[in-house]
Amino acid sequence: MQFENNLEFARQLDNKDPLKSFRDKFHFPNFHEKKILYFTGNSLGLQPKKAAEYIQEELADWAKFGVEGHFHAKRPWYSYHENLCEMTAKIVGAKPVEVVVTHSLTTNLHLLLVSFYRPQGKRTKIICEAKAFPSDQYVLESQVKFHGLTQENIVEVFPRAGEELIHLEDILAKIQELGDELALVMIGGVNYYTGQLFDMQKITVAAHAVGAIAGFDLAHATGNVNLQLHDWNVDFATWCGYKYLNSSPGGVSGIFVHERHANDSSLPRFAGWWGHDKEARFQMEKGFQPLAGAEGWQLSNAPVLGMAAHLAALEIFEEAGMDKIGEKRDLITSYLEFVIDCISENYKEKCSFELITPRDKKQRGSQLSIKVMGQGVELFKRICALGVLADWREPNVIRLAPVPLYTSYEDCFHLGQELEIGISTS
Ligand SMILES: *Cc1c(COP(=O)(O)O)cnc(C)c1O
Repeated sequence: MQFENNLEFARQLDNKDPLKSFRDKFHFPNFHEKKILYFTGNSLGLQPKKAAEYIQEELADWAKFGVEGHFHAKRPWYSYHENLCEMTAKIVGAKPVEVVVTHSLTTNLHLLLVSFYRPQGKRTKIICEAKAFPSDQYVLESQVKFHGLTQENIVEVFPRAGEELIHLEDILAKIQELGDELALVMIGGVNYYTGQLFDMQKITVAAHAVGAIAGFDLAHATGNVNLQLHDWNVDFATWCGYKYLNSSPGGVSGIFVHERHANDSSLPRFAGWWGHDKEARFQMEKGFQPLAGAEGWQLSNAPVLGMAAHLAALEIFEEAGMDKIGEKRDLITSYLEFVIDCISENYKEKCSFELITPRDKKQRGSQLSIKVMGQGVELFKRICALGVLADWREPNVIRLAPVPLYTSYEDCFHLGQELEIGISTS
């Protein structure tokens, strides 16, 4: 499609957008005197309007039933998480038994590593991407220490000299090279900084070929890119609910454990009563018997208020479907890329933008990370003052996420206009 950087063209794209009406299902921030252009759904998704209603229902049932709400609430709390499994499974390409919604992301990563990072003999090493999200770095560091091993067991794969992105071949080559010293590959499916999407299937095949486990942090991937975790044979994965999934600040996280591990009770794990056999949960007998599948990794009873917000968000995904979301993601991200390229070309004496994120849509989701050359944080501050909500990373990167469920093509055009104003008023 031949794009044009003007309002009429952007509106035409909006009119043809099959997901157009979904924008109305969300609250847009309105704290600014100007209309907010929201491009930070990769950090915190917007609030689904239905969330308040679902949370209110739980508050009302709590007021009405007290403890009896576990069984008599409209959606009984005892099995509340079960309302979320099927919809979650569709988003990540899993079977319902392979997923559960529970805890928070970093907690889940630790719990999964207890089961899936089991260094033995010379097989002790972990491969991860350089510049992984800080929390993931601390997780790996502390897991290695927990096993009495040194940091040299964490092997980072770096971009090549002078480059920002990591070559898939370099990850695969490192897996090969470590061979039977490799215990685990643990990579962010979409890198939070560059927006690079990794080929999880190829990485999984390579890890398995040398006898290692493959796990992924999908914080920036779930609800953003199309995933087939079951078919790709991924061992485990986890993600948070509050980025592309729009499920409230600090909201509940999801985990995936492949079916082939579902009944493997020999896997070590940190156990809690909610992961125990449902029928026997209240018998309070000794001897932990894990539930089959991902549910067996739950520790605690569900935080129902946060889960209610998550339910509202998941229903929107259910209605839209990941296929349609994926189609719009590719088109709107390409449109934003086009708008930014136009501005970069028009103003090249004063300021230009260098896209870090891959231009190949198979290697990215909806995030574009752009290096601002010639002007730095001052430009970012000027566009913020104009009502743009975006994200700044030192020393000179703006991250922008056009989210298919609620970002319009017109928003992308206006963002471009605000960038032009920001550049020309410098
Ligand atoms: C957002 C994010 C986190 C945050 O973890 P929480 O436990 O939810 O605070 C961790 N890892 C990655 C890769 C992230 O993008």
